Amino acid sequence: MAKTIQAIRGMNDCLPEVSGTWQQVEATLRQVVANYGYQEIRTPIVESTDLFKRSIGEVTDIVEKEMYTFEDRNGDSLTLRPEGTASCVRAGNEHGLLYNQQQRLWYMGPMFRHERPQKGRYRQFHQFGVETYGMTGPDIDVEVILLSARLWKAFGIAEHVKLEINSLGSNEARQAYRDALIDFLKARADQLDEDSRRRMESNPLRVLDSKNPDVQKALEGAPSLLDHLDEESAQHFSLLCERLTQAGIEYVVNPRLVRGLDYYNRTVFEWVTDSLGSQGTVCAGGRYDGLVEQLGGKSTPAVGFAMGIERLVLLLTTLKADEQITSSADVYVTALGDDATAYAVEVAEQLRDAMPETRVMMHCGGGNMKKQLKRADKTGAGIALLLGSEEAQQRQVTIKPLRDGQEQRTVALADLPGVLAQVLD
Ligand code: ATP
Ligand code: MG
Repeated sequence: MAKTIQAIRGMNDCLPEVSGTWQQVEATLRQVVANYGYQEIRTPIVESTDLFKRSIGEVTDIVEKEMYTFEDRNGDSLTLRPEGTASCVRAGNEHGLLYNQQQRLWYMGPMFRHERPQKGRYRQFHQFGVETYGMTGPDIDVEVILLSARLWKAFGIAEHVKLEINSLGSNEARQAYRDALIDFLKARADQLDEDSRRRMESNPLRVLDSKNPDVQKALEGAPSLLDHLDEESAQHFSLLCERLTQAGIEYVVNPRLVRGLDYYNRTVFEWVTDSLGSQGTVCAGGRYDGLVEQLGGKSTPAVGFAMGIERLVLLLTTLKADEQITSSADVYVTALGDDATAYAVEVAEQLRDAMPETRVMMHCGGGNMKKQLKRADKTGAGIALLLGSEEAQQRQVTIKPLRDGQEQRTVALADLPGVLAQVLD
């Protein structure tokens, strides 16, 4: 026997048993963003490697060790996108969507990072994100946070996630903070792990984000970003806090929240949950006023967030908050004999014309009635249509309810949609 080929480690198949949940999630996401007036943008999965190096930052987990980078046949260095923001900005600049305009965009699709696969962490995963351009905030910061909060409400999991916020200030303020932080870290270098020691000089803020508990312990008493904010950022942040409170959004200020990508300034936020073990961040975002210019466009303020759909689906199934769809059909059409089989195709197609919302499945592969009804039962359909030569000749249909013990009955084909609509109701 030939050896079977398996999927790439960390890249999952989405099988029918969960694809229903994915569809519900995607439909809800689309509905909520539309509700706020956001428009979809779709960008390619592959981009120039430089795009991510220049935006995400050279000294970050993603660029240092997680990107799927390869040479194409022309010798150009290409990368499977590890996140969506860089591509949005690239597309916005390329098509003139950003400068002197306001945009509210959203996207959804696969992202790729070469990480150690574990629950809630994969090498191909999916993100849904929103990106807004041209608004300095904090009103728009509040809007994107409200939008994310509405998502939790729509999914019925609002009590299971909490909001953490912080401000990274301006680039200059962060520079001043950086120096203070480096002094603090240098004095404790022996308590840091190798990664953090290496980053201490090149990207010290990333040390704050370390997941190593020993490093977190060494950070106790570290200088706080919030004490180093420039005047404008401090005002922006206090207004943001005030507006969130007015809108009834609960939050915790976490001065160590810095995010793993370099392009953020001022507002950063994360929605975290206790229900998923260590991969607890379901949604993360913030303001990135410098990125458009950094990627060659004219200076344009921006704020957005991204959420991991796998983690959201995991959360919904863990909390049993997803709607369980167990059936694949509402009506199952059976037929005995050649005449009846030809007639059954006509019946099924007419029904699909008349009832586009109803799932009509046609039995294929023949067999006796017992076998056909067994198949009907397996699909979870509520109703089987029984068609024999008698029905075919009379242009009638026998309706057999499968679940509630109701009597079967025979109706004219023309009356079928009307009768079914009542029975299925
Ligand atoms: P983490 O700290 O968990 O590594 P991150 O800072 O790398 O997250 P972002 O780049 O901000 O995450 O991505 C936003 C969201 O995308 C995360 O909050 C998470 O829900 C999801 N996400 C990120 N990486 C993965 C992954 N490898 N597998 C599944 N989901 C992911
Ligand atoms: Mg990461």
